[in-house]
Amino acid sequence: MNKAEKAISVIIFLCFVLSAAGAGGAQPLLEFARIQKLGLNWDPLTGTGYLEKEGSYVSFATDRPFLVYDWKQIAKVSPPYLEANNLVLPEDFQSKVRSLLEDHSHTGNARYSVAAILIDPGHGGKDTGAIGEIGGMRLLEKDLALEVSKRVIDLLRSRFPNRKILVTRKGDSYPTLDDRVAMANSVDLEKDEAVIYVSIHANASFNKTAKGYEVWYLNPEYRRTVVDAETVKEKGKDIAPILNAMLEEEFTTESIILARKVYERLGVELGRQSPGRGIRPEEWFVVRNAKMPSILIEMGFITNPDEGRSLSGSGYLRRIGDAIYNGIVDFIDYFER
Ligand SMILES: [Zn+2]
Repeated sequence: MNKAEKAISVIIFLCFVLSAAGAGGAQPLLEFARIQKLGLNWDPLTGTGYLEKEGSYVSFATDRPFLVYDWKQIAKVSPPYLEANNLVLPEDFQSKVRSLLEDHSHTGNARYSVAAILIDPGHGGKDTGAIGEIGGMRLLEKDLALEVSKRVIDLLRSRFPNRKILVTRKGDSYPTLDDRVAMANSVDLEKDEAVIYVSIHANASFNKTAKGYEVWYLNPEYRRTVVDAETVKEKGKDIAPILNAMLEEEFTTESIILARKVYERLGVELGRQSPGRGIRPEEWFVVRNAKMPSILIEMGFITNPDEGRSLSGSGYLRRIGDAIYNGIVDFIDYFER
């Protein structure tokens, strides 16, 4: 090796050491989450995920040079990238996530408070919804939905006098699905405030033995626009669709948690009287168009002779109302803890 060769090999060695030191800070996502004790949600299919600490969230996506927090705030970072099937987080990405999740003035309680709850009794007026027949008496879904909703609203109003508790219909009227969606989307909110949407229904089937309750949430595969026009102007057209995908993911996650809380409470309240049929994704109209965590509850089958009889009694409907109320309270406690 002559002098020149030696010099070159030293330079190559130095470059190697320097680049190794530079990359040394990068860490696989799983390891980072484990060491920092963060909650992790990662969907390899969409390449999006979030990290969570004590109810604060930071969303990210593969090859995107930014993080999303506070619903629509953006922090620039080096993009996370895939390496041997692992998502690798550059060092500045990690330190930004750490500081955002440490600093609760950004992503803590202030980030998410449920300022409004919109209860939607399904159907109404000329739209009866499902019809059952119990002992020669007609049982209408619209009536059951309204009775349960009234119970939920009474309980919510006395528990949360400082939150807006709203309802899409107070009596036997018929707001169209468009009206309900418009109502949901027009709730006045401050920054960092959220509204949750709960639609209440009863089920029907040609199969008279079908029985039990279900809770539906938005199908994550359905793409909707949650970012408003102003944000698009502010952040630019390139970022908006990605931001959209990330927020959508967040709303879906919250809808699933809300669905789970209500479903669990229905299980506790109804016990063996009615079987749980699961939590399901749905592209149902109102839920799909509402820019907020939203669920739809099917409280039971009006067409099943046993369950129909239960559903025709005020005591049973009150218990369903109590369960839905308790599930909503559990969800609020979870997000504002
Ligand atoms: Zn219905």
